[in-house]
Amino acid sequence: MKLIIIGGGIAGLAAAYYAQKQADTPIQITLLEQADYWGGKLITDRVPFGDDQFVIEGGPDTFVVTKPWGVRLCKELGLGERLQGTNPKTKKTYILKNDRLHELPGGLTMMIPTEFGPMIRTGLLSWPAKARMGFDFFMPSAPENGDETLGAFVTRRLGRSAYENLIEPLMSGIYAGDGDRLSLQSTFPYFRDLEMKHGGLVKGALAVRRERAKKARANGKSPNPTTSTRLSASPGSRSIFLTPLTGLAEIVEALVAKLEDAGVNLHLNTHVTNVKRENVKRETWNVTLADGESLAADGLILATPAYVSGALIKNFAPELAGEVAAIKYVSTATVTLAFQDCDLPRPLDGYGYVIPRREGHKALACTWTSTKFPHRAPNGYALVRVFIGRAGQESEISWNEDDLLDIAREELQLTLGITTEPLLKRIFRWEKAMPQYNLGHPERLKRINFALEGFPSLALAGNGYHGIGIPDCIHSGELAVEKVLEIKIPSCSTF
Ligand SMILES: Cc1cc2nc3c(=O)[nH]c(=O)nc-3n(C[C@H](O)[C@H](O)[C@H](O)COP(=O)(O)OP(=O)(O)OC[C@H]3O[C@@H](n4cnc5c(N)ncnc54)[C@H](O)[C@@H]3O)c2cc1C
Repeated sequence: MKLIIIGGGIAGLAAAYYAQKQADTPIQITLLEQADYWGGKLITDRVPFGDDQFVIEGGPDTFVVTKPWGVRLCKELGLGERLQGTNPKTKKTYILKNDRLHELPGGLTMMIPTEFGPMIRTGLLSWPAKARMGFDFFMPSAPENGDETLGAFVTRRLGRSAYENLIEPLMSGIYAGDGDRLSLQSTFPYFRDLEMKHGGLVKGALAVRRERAKKARANGKSPNPTTSTRLSASPGSRSIFLTPLTGLAEIVEALVAKLEDAGVNLHLNTHVTNVKRENVKRETWNVTLADGESLAADGLILATPAYVSGALIKNFAPELAGEVAAIKYVSTATVTLAFQDCDLPRPLDGYGYVIPRREGHKALACTWTSTKFPHRAPNGYALVRVFIGRAGQESEISWNEDDLLDIAREELQLTLGITTEPLLKRIFRWEKAMPQYNLGHPERLKRINFALEGFPSLALAGNGYHGIGIPDCIHSGELAVEKVLEIKIPSCSTF
């Protein structure tokens, strides 16, 4: 059996890992990556500084533990002890409104307000907007009528102002998306579940909160209601976001080392230009490389962005290719800057801030990296990362490095008053990086899955389909292996 995996991001690496680990017969695995490094969006720049270093993430900076596949893989790779949570001492997160930072109100459960006091006190919403949120208590559930956008749903339940000033920046930001286009079912399906089950968002979030408190009591832990209000922390010092000590590249490095030991053929700088289905009866594959060479395979996993996968399969599966290629991606960039603490006009006393779309900034969010992860900068220095670009605003940005740097510096000057020249800067441009699970995505996935049934030894993996987070991508690699090798990988549901 020869298996070829195209794309050496986390999904492709995870697929190669599970294929070599789980195959019950000998199998030759080849992983092809066009870039000159492994990991795709997972890229960490470790910059030596005196006896210490700055740890700069170019793409993701953490992964969530509530989806178990990330933690499981790290444990299997021997990285369990190296995983760090976000800083338990300073859990504040801010939201920008009219160029002022407002602390995220306490009492949010699953990002839904569940406490009266903090909502009354917040300056993020006007009095009529706060009153409108209360309608959620009395408004009946909408009948089951399929999907709607995240924006339409939250506006219906909590009002437009709560959506624009509170929920949109927290939720659409994850996708660099437009909440008025994102499919609720594909992005936050539990919102609709809360409405259907409990008759409202707030009632549902309160029920979840009570359930969590009950479980915490049963486990002998004291439920800490304030921590459920924060973006990134669970009770005590335990965080729901984790990352290896010196960056997510540790996962990539450990995976590559494992794959090398297992004799997997690893090829960087290998651009795949075409895929042919050779033998329809006993389905085999022919993969053409940019240098004209071709490779034969019995099984094929495409762990490339959906628009690449669509282009690769269009000659033998035009309809499937059309569906896959129709999944839109948004370009983004991150700009990380380092400063001396003494050059900061205000303390970075939180994880950072998010910027609602209605504020009209080119930046989407700003992470105060050295507060969120104190070990990421030497003592006395601060790292700040500005996240640029979102759906619908890409044409407003020129994307050259100088302009991205200017956007980041303007953002920091306007909001934090930082005018000093940074000690170091790192800019990462991510062209067509964030898939948009827009309205119609669930139906598209059904059509894709149906069409894929006609190709038993072909599978798609990666962030374009069932989740964009690192754990989702790892799981997608695992599921692709299950399909192509016709095996079942033991599931993990609890950690
Ligand atoms: C700025 C940013 C911040 C993020 N933050 C977080 C976060 O904090 N937490 C989180 O969980 N997720 C985060 N995400 C999302 C997450 O990082 C991605 O969804 C995930 O890494 C995608 O992995 P992948 O393997 O599907 O795709 P990719 O990483 O894109 O890998 C696909 C690979 O395929 C290769 N390829 C493409 N075409 C070809 C070809 N023709 N031949 C050969 N190879 C090819 C590419 O070079 C690439 O290496 C973030 C994403 C970005 C961009």
